[in-house]
Amino acid sequence: MAAKIISGKEVAAQIREELKKEVGELKDRHDVVPGLVTILVGEDPASVSYVTAKQKTSHDLSFHSIQDNQPADISEEHLLQLIDKYNKDPKIHGILVQLPLPKHINEKKVLNAIDPDKDVDGFHPVNVGRLMIGGEEVKFLPCTPAGIQELIVRSGYRTEGAEVVVVGRSNIVGKPIANIMLQKATGANSTVTVVHTRTKGMASHCKRADILIVAAGVPGLVKPEWIKPGACVIDVGVNRVGEKISEKTGKKVAILKGDVDFETAKEIAGAITPVPGGVGPMTITMLMKNTVRAAKIAAGVK
Ligand code: NAP
Repeated sequence: MAAKIISGKEVAAQIREELKKEVGELKDRHDVVPGLVTILVGEDPASVSYVTAKQKTSHDLSFHSIQDNQPADISEEHLLQLIDKYNKDPKIHGILVQLPLPKHINEKKVLNAIDPDKDVDGFHPVNVGRLMIGGEEVKFLPCTPAGIQELIVRSGYRTEGAEVVVVGRSNIVGKPIANIMLQKATGANSTVTVVHTRTKGMASHCKRADILIVAAGVPGLVKPEWIKPGACVIDVGVNRVGEKISEKTGKKVAILKGDVDFETAKEIAGAITPVPGGVGPMTITMLMKNTVRAAKIAAGVK
């Protein structure tokens, strides 16, 4: 039987509706409006489009949102001063610096300057540490891994006691999602294995997975025979494998493929995310969720 297709677009839309309600309640009951600033340095077209999408979503959710555009030659010192200004601004609950930054700026230094309680991207070492400790300590989950967890939970898969296998150990996807699924918490409590390029017998690890999360960046890496029948397969990979002319716009667009051979995998898996349209649409929505959480924490609202 063909797998259920998990639509990230639909789940993201559902979460945004829930957030709208939460934002309304925050305003009505506590006079709090979540505030998000996105800082863009330079005019890299991909960065401009990411920041524009983030700003559009935060406007749609009635956030107090600021897009702060800075020239490519801004000094590191000036950028750090700007972050300090937003760290102290009580109307701003989330600060996002769009990466990459120009070469003359130390990215790590800039990201580490963000107040961890406004780090809605969830990558500040303090938030990485909080996730490692778990429980009440956790403030913000990094957005893509948090989106992956939502997709699994909302597709009805039981995570407690499930064998979760994560392909990839990057700091932005593999390690944090492994850590999230390992938490002693609802939507987690899984038995987690992480595999990577030095793993022996990749296929046999993957074949054990009730939930298989693939974030390797290798198109078609996971073969259908690596998948346990009925498993939930989350394909995080986004690989440009060519170009085509869009029927909608008539313009050249990239052909995207995931890390899983979707056509064959969907005949074996119980549920699977497509690429595009799976994990991708979740990331910005989870950024918004983190911003609402930051506003609630700042206001002392449960
Ligand atoms: P990354 O930093 O390049 O890490 C890839 C990981 O996969 C590494 O740990 C690597 O192992 C492992 N790996 C690579 N080839 C492998 C192989 N043949 N067998 C086993 N393991 C292998 O990548 P990333 O940033 O995590 O991103 C992974 C993919 O997810 C990319 O396609 C990226 O575009 C996509 N992505 C999507 C979203 C989104 O949709 N919102 C967000 C982030 C990333 P080693 O550590 O041993 O080298």
